[in-house]
Amino acid sequence: MAEEQQFQAGVNTHENVIFSCFGGASNTGITSGLASLEAVKELGLTKAAIMCLGGLPTNVKPVFGKTKAAKKIITVDGCPFECARKVVEQAGFKPTKSIVLTRDISMKKKGLSEDIGKEIKGVMDYISDDEVKRAKDFIVKTIME
Ligand code: SF4
Repeated sequence: MAEEQQFQAGVNTHENVIFSCFGGASNTGITSGLASLEAVKELGLTKAAIMCLGGLPTNVKPVFGKTKAAKKIITVDGCPFECARKVVEQAGFKPTKSIVLTRDISMKKKGLSEDIGKEIKGVMDYISDDEVKRAKDFIVKTIME
């Protein structure tokens, strides 16, 4: 059986990992995922990557290895259900910092199904560039501090 790969942050894996929710049926979930990606684009992949949230309950070994090696584990959630933080904690990790967009950048959650049968818009019409940028800035600051 192959030896389990050893990971060392900043050498053969990312220095910090982000676990983001991505609920595609609300503005908060979509903003969470987009802002996390923008943060990685700004920081570069040596500094941070979005780690596979689904790899935790399914016991994907490289996800556990890279998460154990990370200097910081940041969870990003759109709303108070805090799906990402709960999944990370259920896998046995303690997030260095938990970000919740409704709390930390005062986003107001909008369920996109609410407008079905009324005036449903295109999905990106529910997303604010300003909120994505403010969320991205918050994530970047949290990783760099
Ligand atoms: S934390 Fe909120 S926005 Fe994110 S996936 Fe869970 S319910 Fe959706």
